Amino acid sequence: MQHRIAFLTAVASGILASVPLMAETVEPAATDPKSAGGEKAFRPNIVVIFCDDLGYGDLACFGNPTIATPELDRMASEGMKFTQFYSAAPVCTPSRAALLTGRLPLRSGMCSNKRRVLFPDSKGGLPADEVTLAEVLRSQGYATACVGKWHLGHLPQFLPTQHGFDSYFGIPYSNDMDRVADSPQGRAAFLDPKIGYWNVPLLRDDQVIERPADQRTMTRRYTEVAAKFITQNRGQPFFLYLPHSMPHVPLFRSETFANRSRRGLYGDVIEEIDWSVGRILETLRSLQLDERTLVFFTSDNGPWLIFNEQGGTAGQLRDGKGSTWEGGMREPTLAWWPGTIPGGTVCRDVASTMDIFATACALAGAELPTERTLDSYDLSAALRGEGKSSRELLFYYRGYNLMAVRKGPWKLHLMTQDAYGAGARQPVKHDPPILYHLERDPSERFDVAAGHPDVVQAILADIAAHRERLEPAESQLEL
Ligand code: MG
Repeated sequence: MQHRIAFLTAVASGILASVPLMAETVEPAATDPKSAGGEKAFRPNIVVIFCDDLGYGDLACFGNPTIATPELDRMASEGMKFTQFYSAAPVCTPSRAALLTGRLPLRSGMCSNKRRVLFPDSKGGLPADEVTLAEVLRSQGYATACVGKWHLGHLPQFLPTQHGFDSYFGIPYSNDMDRVADSPQGRAAFLDPKIGYWNVPLLRDDQVIERPADQRTMTRRYTEVAAKFITQNRGQPFFLYLPHSMPHVPLFRSETFANRSRRGLYGDVIEEIDWSVGRILETLRSLQLDERTLVFFTSDNGPWLIFNEQGGTAGQLRDGKGSTWEGGMREPTLAWWPGTIPGGTVCRDVASTMDIFATACALAGAELPTERTLDSYDLSAALRGEGKSSRELLFYYRGYNLMAVRKGPWKLHLMTQDAYGAGARQPVKHDPPILYHLERDPSERFDVAAGHPDVVQAILADIAAHRERLEPAESQLEL
């Protein structure tokens, strides 16, 4: 606790800004994770690295032919790869709300059919009565930090420090917001991005410390702040939430990564994130925290396909960001915890970013909130290679509209809408619904509803039961 107070005091007084950021020479943690207080009392650190708009096919370990991701490939070989892991929404704000609350976005009002995400003129944000993972873990004695893009409300009452995080460093909404009036119009600004085209603020806790944020340095600076947080809290359990601003357009990377990737600018950006992951894992190793830390790597939604070469790829999955086709919500996901997660394994269970909530609570010995409905399933047995996820259903929402449901290998679409962008992209209602077998047909090409009326009926019954208990909250995105 002393240490924690000293840290907060140091943050408050700005001392941290002037000390070296990396942690090469710090003493390792004194205690062995598995002997300190016995296995039962042991509570791992939790790190969630959350990319922005990363596609299912954007990592070498998920099949990308030209983007080099040696650190993520190593993370996969030392940990577990999830091939059927989903975000809770196909766009930023609802996806992030769901990750941190373990609840479908409509339960907190963090979605809308009119405005898909929060904007700089929004008055709403994540309601104070939502229970975030940071709040639960902090109540268990965890130090907590959010480093990166927030996008759950930029007004003071909604910032990370109001939602269970001891500290915050990052941008409050997307890096393409606050576009300045005299920047090149339309897509031209994205094709040759300059920092000054977007007046995005950079915050430390609740104070703006830079505007516009120098986006070229964000991935590097997030990494430095995150590594420093780990180092300073090595003696106690911690929760680090590291939501990168990238690879959301406009794309920026530091000079070190300029013109390095065969995939061009987009590849440079991913390769810098890969470096960042390597730095985080190496920091944990050097402090001998690797066997006491669970690290998740995933993304908030699929690739922003309308930006052509500047957007990622969903690989063989259909469509991308903004749609409830697989490419919009299935994410390249890795989990790493040496000594606990068997290395080089693949989990093909259906799982969701919302499941991180229940998983972290179970590992931290925290009770799940009981006075509210959660959509979160404990993955810890699956992570140990000792069992399966108990999740049976996965709901695909676009705003308040239930678009599709996955049950086992089956996905039933009630409605589809291709990713937003140029051209008419109107919602299409499917009555009767269409059905895909995602394990035989991951690209959603062959409607097999006619041959499986029993499956269609079973999922429709699940939907009826889901709707009967559903209490959607008023939209925060329309305030
Ligand atoms: Mg996003």
